[in-house]
Amino acid sequence: HEFNKFEEIALAERTFLAIKPDGVQRGLVGEIIRRFEDKGFTLVGLKFLKVSRELAEQHYDVHRERPFFAGLVDFITSGPVVALVWEGEGVIASARKIIGATNPLSAEPGTIRGDFGVNIGRNLIHGSDAIETAQQEVSLWFKEEELVSWQPTITPWLHE
Ligand code: UDP
Repeated sequence: HEFNKFEEIALAERTFLAIKPDGVQRGLVGEIIRRFEDKGFTLVGLKFLKVSRELAEQHYDVHRERPFFAGLVDFITSGPVVALVWEGEGVIASARKIIGATNPLSAEPGTIRGDFGVNIGRNLIHGSDAIETAQQEVSLWFKEEELVSWQPTITPWLHE
């Protein structure tokens, strides 16, 4: 199967996800990764780490002035996190749908937050919200050499 340039660019969209400490503690790592694999997205980066305060504060910099900022940084640094980069056509917006609304009580059943969460401060997973933030977050969390470009053999069965 040959791809033209336009198809390659569309398929190369990337987003950053992080399974937060509550998702790890609750044993939802496999379940969460499964959902993105099942949808047909391609895993290009994965690491398991304890997040430093510096990284947490940089990641949530837009929320620095919000009242929940300190608690959010404490929470994200409280236990290990799974950092992920996924690739595929429309992956940024699609991942946000798979994740569901910020407040798990408002999130639709069938979404990760809707199925597993009840509290906004324990909403299990982060996903980039736009192209610019996705690019910033991927490069904040991963070095270029930690990302793996590859093409799954099922690609022609997912994309015409
Ligand atoms: N958050 C919180 N309390 C709030 C709002 C947000 O603890 O009242 C946390 C929550 O973990 C959320 C994160 O801050 O996921 C970032 O908020 P944002 O509005 O960007 O939500 P998201 O993009 O994660 O859905």
